[in-house]
Amino acid sequence: MIPLVRRLIAVCALGGAALTACGSDIAAEAPRAPRTAAPSPSPSPSPSVTVPRPPTLAPGPAGLIPVFKNGPRTPDKAVALTFDADMTAAQGPRAAAGEHFDNPELIAALRELQVPATVFMTGRWAEQYPVQARSIGRDPLFEVANHSYSHYAFTGDCYGLPTVSEDRMRSDVERAYTAFRAAGVPDAMPYFRFPGGCYDQRALRALTGTGVTAVQWDVVGGDAFATDPDAVAQQVLDGVRPGSVVVLHCTRSAAPATERAVRTIVPELRARGFRFVKVSELIGASGGRR
Ligand SMILES: [Zn+2]
Repeated sequence: MIPLVRRLIAVCALGGAALTACGSDIAAEAPRAPRTAAPSPSPSPSPSVTVPRPPTLAPGPAGLIPVFKNGPRTPDKAVALTFDADMTAAQGPRAAAGEHFDNPELIAALRELQVPATVFMTGRWAEQYPVQARSIGRDPLFEVANHSYSHYAFTGDCYGLPTVSEDRMRSDVERAYTAFRAAGVPDAMPYFRFPGGCYDQRALRALTGTGVTAVQWDVVGGDAFATDPDAVAQQVLDGVRPGSVVVLHCTRSAAPATERAVRTIVPELRARGFRFVKVSELIGASGGRR
């Protein structure tokens, strides 16, 4: 993998050292109608709004979960900014000691700039910051997706991350959804980002039946440990193409330049004719089915 990717992954690879998370401005919380689960054993006859199920890709060969990397390269210049909310199961003491695994300023900036975004959240983070998780999860501007519960790797060699055993992979993903619900996130998306982006056939097979689509990326923001927001912005601007999925982080402790980078990235990409969408829209445009 290229050095920049290694640098990005280093955030994850530190495991117990410097993982990151997202925060939010709870004042901007907006209630959203819960998505009707499907199949529903008792469909409601009420005329209340039913949010459509999010699109997912068809399973791969032998039922392996599908992997999504980017949307169509069409003249409709859509781009999805994604923000990983990393936190391991072992980082509670560091959070208790004052380390900020969230980034309320970044979330506030996205709201101010009206940028739809997808937040790949770990279950552990949702437990640490339940009010913020709920706020993000109930804001129609955002969608919450799954970044595992513990942020352990799903392969044996993933930049030094501790690994989750094969027989616990599925439960680790499910535990994150449980944590989201407990925090008040009503309808987390059926999208899963492997910690470190590391996966293999065994991992895809282990998650068969969960219904998730694995989501990777085609643009590395390089914001992990970056202190120069202009360098992060330039890397994103150089890499984005129509349909791109950009991976960034929202953490004060390990990605301190991200909010400032976003304030450069957003107006520049809009000036170039891009519009910001959530991952679900790109998957839908890629043939994803509801
Ligand atoms: Zn991560």
